[in-house]
Amino acid sequence: MSAAPVRTGAATPARRAGVDTLRAYGDRGGAEIDLSDNTNRFGVPPAAAAALAAFDPARATRYPTASNGALREALAAYAGVAPAEVVTGCGSDDVLDSALRAFGAPGDRVAFSAPTFVMVAHYARANALEPVAVPPGPGGVPDVDALLAARARHVYLCSPNNPTGGTLPDGALDRVLATTEGLVILDEAYAEFAGESAIAGAPARARLLVARTMSKAFGLAGLRIGWGAGAAELVLAIEKARGPYRVNAAAEAVALAALEHDRDWVRESAAEAVRARERFALALRGAGFAPLPSAANFVLVPVADAGAAEAVLRERGVAVRAFPALPGVGDALRITVAPWPVLERALRALRESATPATAGEAHA
Ligand code: PMP
Repeated sequence: MSAAPVRTGAATPARRAGVDTLRAYGDRGGAEIDLSDNTNRFGVPPAAAAALAAFDPARATRYPTASNGALREALAAYAGVAPAEVVTGCGSDDVLDSALRAFGAPGDRVAFSAPTFVMVAHYARANALEPVAVPPGPGGVPDVDALLAARARHVYLCSPNNPTGGTLPDGALDRVLATTEGLVILDEAYAEFAGESAIAGAPARARLLVARTMSKAFGLAGLRIGWGAGAAELVLAIEKARGPYRVNAAAEAVALAALEHDRDWVRESAAEAVRARERFALALRGAGFAPLPSAANFVLVPVADAGAAEAVLRERGVAVRAFPALPGVGDALRITVAPWPVLERALRALRESATPATAGEAHA
């Protein structure tokens, strides 16, 4: 008979500062039509799908490469930088988290224009840094003067920004780089939809990391492939803070196939998303809504009560993301762009379940 395990203490250990303020992300229940997470609703790139189907199960017994040399070469060619200037990760989440850990000392402040990608504040806290949310101008547009006035050691920028969809004001990146002592992250998760990117010039700017992902335009969110580019010394520090083996062997094989053979597919599907987005924005305006201008594959739509509208839409089989009381915007729904018949259905459900925000609310 085995002895009962000995309990050595009544309480779990004290957590690192900030960890108890975090929320576990949790799983959201599925809906018939999911327009809630800005993934590619136009399908999987064909060479990537074929590579996944052909993946040899025997490779599951071995580790993937530790730092993804072949994938970094392919990403470098895609970005117009050198392989040593690329870092990979388990989603760009991993790249952002590792970058904050590599450059942030406990207590350092990380400023960003709010609203922005919620996980940045999360990873800042998880790494014992202090997130500083800087209020935006009207419409959620970053207030660069206010961002600089926060005098934070590190700055996170996101363009196109999640959840507003807007791009950075002209000159913002240069101004932030000129005055920030620590790391500047430019998150370009949606760059393929915007058709513009600062990534090729990233290595020449010693403080800049441009973060990218294969979760959006490349349609591979389930495989978790993130990456970034910057000066070789900068990305090496991120790789060290990250640790080895973050991109698994199947993900690496699929990413390589996509980068080699699916670039036209990605370009065309992004162009289709942009056309659908503009048509959707026009239809929304026709229905009395005032969507924010977007350069991404989603639109942010101010409504009177985001939580209530999200719940009613979900009852009708359409999942969107509710953002209550966003700074500079008010209550809003973020809706991922999809093929037109899907958006038509979302529009119908929206008309029946959401009240457009009044002009006053929209710029609260
Ligand atoms: N950055 C932004 C702006 C995002 O919207 C997302 C995903 N929603 C990510 C990063 C993370 O993407 P992933 O980890 O899938 O690469």
